[in-house]
Amino acid sequence: MIIDFHTHVFDLRGPGDKEKRPVTWNDLIERLDEEGIERAVVLPLGISPEILLGPSLFGRGSDILSQINPPEWASKRVVLFGSLDPRMGCVGNLTDEGASEILEDRLPYFDFSEILEEYRRRGIRGIGELTANLPQDDPLVINMFEQCGNYNFPVLFHTTGPGRGVYGLWDEPGLPRLERLLKAVPGTTCIAHATGIWAEIDGDIVPEDKYTYPKRKIKKRGRLLELLEKYSNLYVDISGTSGFNGITRDRDFGVAFLNEFREKIVFGTDVCFAGKEDRRPHLGYLRKLLEEGEIDQRTFSLITGKNAVSILSLEV
Ligand SMILES: [Zn+2]
Repeated sequence: MIIDFHTHVFDLRGPGDKEKRPVTWNDLIERLDEEGIERAVVLPLGISPEILLGPSLFGRGSDILSQINPPEWASKRVVLFGSLDPRMGCVGNLTDEGASEILEDRLPYFDFSEILEEYRRRGIRGIGELTANLPQDDPLVINMFEQCGNYNFPVLFHTTGPGRGVYGLWDEPGLPRLERLLKAVPGTTCIAHATGIWAEIDGDIVPEDKYTYPKRKIKKRGRLLELLEKYSNLYVDISGTSGFNGITRDRDFGVAFLNEFREKIVFGTDVCFAGKEDRRPHLGYLRKLLEEGEIDQRTFSLITGKNAVSILSLEV
């Protein structure tokens, strides 16, 4: 069973791509059929302000409920995730206790259980895609990840480098903050995505790599490999330009990476728009590697479906 672990049914248009067409449930299932994919993990967006560009704010179907309520005919083909932002919640309103917590600079540790319960009732299987611009090891992030783990919800998150004006959880080169998070939440499955994590496939990383698509060949194993080896709760998704660049910028290194970490990698596309030209090359590339004998059937099956089945505890 092939599972696309990273899809959206959301209006992702920014000011620069107003002519693009947002993906509908219909478009999603049509693409799955044409590409020979059985199921898609649908990751709602829009809960964090970082992802809300002009058109999407007014787009139809961009609210959470629309993104977790597929039509009946599509429901067997999708696995639904819920959406959270670690900054949600507040303790400071209208109570002396809340006021003193704020004055003492204590952080508002929000109890997510009511929302997580509601997600569970609605058949949600995980949380993501997280896009909040926060340090990867912020106490609010750790709090949210820990509670998701208590509900057996894996968390999929966008990663980037330090600074404002970008979206996603950020970390310095070398991933010190991600390591702190992984240690702090051993019971939570963490699925990393985007430029911040893929830059770390290369041990000779420069800070700019965390935001871009570096093309250099890889001479030295990066921190990503070390953390994948060391932490059983870390996975990486190959979706988007970032993941595809990560596994192809140095073809031989990429193939060796896929083989070595086949139990820690999930296939996804991150298709953002409905046009044929907006489709992604990931699955075609993996199929080609299989055909050419660069990866074997077991490696192909793990990356394109089996790992997802076990992360999501899907019955097949
Ligand atoms: Zn995405």
